[in-house]
Amino acid sequence: LPSGEDQNLEIQGSVTVCNIDTQGSQEENDFDDKHFYCETCRKQYIDQCDVHGPPLFTYDSPTPVGVPQRALLTLPQGLVIGRSTTSGAGLGVFNQGQIVPLGMHFGPFDGELSSMEQALESAYSWMICRGSDQYDYIHAERDTHSNWMRYVVCSRNENEQNLVAIQQGGRVLFRCCRVIYPGQELKVWYAEEYAQSLSTIWDKIWDKKCTSI
Ligand SMILES: [Zn+2]
Repeated sequence: LPSGEDQNLEIQGSVTVCNIDTQGSQEENDFDDKHFYCETCRKQYIDQCDVHGPPLFTYDSPTPVGVPQRALLTLPQGLVIGRSTTSGAGLGVFNQGQIVPLGMHFGPFDGELSSMEQALESAYSWMICRGSDQYDYIHAERDTHSNWMRYVVCSRNENEQNLVAIQQGGRVLFRCCRVIYPGQELKVWYAEEYAQSLSTIWDKIWDKKCTSI
């Protein structure tokens, strides 16, 4: 990514700071994804931020797995699918509800467990680290077996990023890292610490995701 304005560097910086704040050497041997991160305090926490309380969550609309167009039906209240503002990207997800505040979490990303080979062929794949050199691959190829998050487009630059993808508790979540106003499109990039927990396969998967648009 090209460097952006100060404000955006701050967001990148917050991710880095968060890394430094972690438990240090223990984390290298003992994989640990139980922390949340407060965007305002720029500190990690487990159950709740001392200042801002427990993490904010916007949950999917409950929809049974396997029903036609399940991914669309799982859209949380206030979010809609529309034509992405990224040219050539096809569909995207827009906020048509209330302002999405900093620190709001969406997810988890829903899909099917797949092999590494399948994951590499799909533009809808994510990885989950299960321990040192142990990964699960999930893809959202089938809209009957995935959720709305498959439609969120990658941000092309730091200026438009408003979601950061993280792994927490063995799942992929999107956290709001910039307030999303009504009418704005959701755009995601991954957290540095997320990529650091993964192998180089991740770079290939992300490339696929971004170049397929
Ligand atoms: Zn806080």
